Order: sequence, then C-alpha cells, then structure tokens
Amino acid sequence: MFDADFFRRWMTATAASVEREAERLTALDSPIGDADHGSNLQRGFRAVVETLEKEEPGTPGAVLTLAGRRLISTVGGASGPLYGTLLRRTGKALGDAAEVGGQDLAEALRTGVDAVRQLGGAAPGDKTMVDALVPAVDALGDSFAAARAAAEQGALATAPLQARKGRASYLGERSVGHQDPGATSSALLIAALAEVAGE
Ligand code: ADP
Ligand code: MG
Ligand code: MG
Repeated sequence: MFDADFFRRWMTATAASVEREAERLTALDSPIGDADHGSNLQRGFRAVVETLEKEEPGTPGAVLTLAGRRLISTVGGASGPLYGTLLRRTGKALGDAAEVGGQDLAEALRTGVDAVRQLGGAAPGDKTMVDALVPAVDALGDSFAAARAAAEQGALATAPLQARKGRASYLGERSVGHQDPGATSSALLIAALAEVAGE
C-alpha cells in the first residue's frame, strides 16, 4: 500500500530529476519548440515541492491534486495545464483514502492520462507526452519497472514521428527526426515513480 508520504516522495524525486535533466529537456524543445520545456518544468516542480512542504496534505489524493493545481498556476506553457491535469485528475480518482494499492494507482493514473488526452486532443502517435504516458499506464499492471521501460521506449519512439499537436506541429514534416520533449519528461515522471517504489 502507498501512503501520502510515498506520493510526496514521488513528486520530490520528479523535481530532482527535472533539475538534473532541465538542460536536456530545453535542448529537445529547441529544434521543434521554443526552448523552454526544461525551465517550465523546473519552475513548476520547484513550486510543487515548496507547496507540499508547506501544506502537508495527508492523503495520496490530496498530494496529487495539490501538486496538479500548483503546476497549472505556475507553468504558462502547454505542459503546465497538461501535467497539472494529469496529477489533479489522478489525485481526484484516488479519492480520500489514507493508503492506496497498486491497482488503485494504476486505475487512477489511467483516468489522469485520459484527461490529458481529452484536454489536449492528442492520440498516441501524435508525438506528444501521450506517447510515453499511454504505454506506461498499460504496463503499470505488471510492475513499476515495466512502466518505466515502456515510457522510455515510448519517448524514444517519438523521434521518427511527425507532430500533430502542440507547437511542434507547426513545423509539419520538419518535426520528424527529433525526440519530443514532453514525452521525454513524462518518462522522467514515470522513472521517478519506479525509483520511489524501489524498482
Ligand atoms: P510550450 O509548447 O507551450 O512551450 P512546453 O515546451 O513546456 O510548452 O511543453 C511542450 C510539450 O507539451 C510537447 O513536447 C508535448 O509533449 C506536450 N504537448 C503540447 N501540446 C500537447 C497536446 N495538445 N497534447 C498533449 N501534449 C502536448
Ligand atoms: Mg516549449
Ligand atoms: Mg513555451
């Protein structure tokens, strides 16, 4: 079972990973975007960690809904509302239980990913964060490690695709040959989950 502290550690581990990888995320956003993905997420996850320390939400659902709200309020780019929605809707689906099981988490995350798809209108293959998140939730029933591998694979597989959503889609065919920054950061989010689960 996973408690509020587990989810807080997931957010902290994600923030640390974003700090380490910010330059790479921004570099990926340079040829097919506006070179701000790393700094957007850095600002957002710094604020998330700060808020979680201050408000000390007591349930898994409260941790994620608070984190999601904070991302929405601090990140101006497309990724803020999308990641904010992912966490907020996942948190909402977890309800107010003090502890949740792996199956609950997998189902809640599926709800969150569906909300991202609805908000952004992206389907798998459109070269977005959805390309890492969907395979990750599909694999989460097996293990956290399987979800991490699936997300990493999904992110790598965005390189040959032509973007159909977001800023990169304005480039048309010129978006081909570059890995999507959002799919890459989604893989970091899932890797942080596997890390705090000890896998
Ligand atoms: P912005 O494009 O506003 O500068 P970011 O650079 O922070 O925002 O985030 C860009 C990432 O957001 C993309 O790499 C992509 O993965 C994701 N993204 C953009 N638009 C969408 C969308 N409609 N649906 C899903 N993901 C999207
Ligand atoms: Mg950008
Ligand atoms: Mg931007």
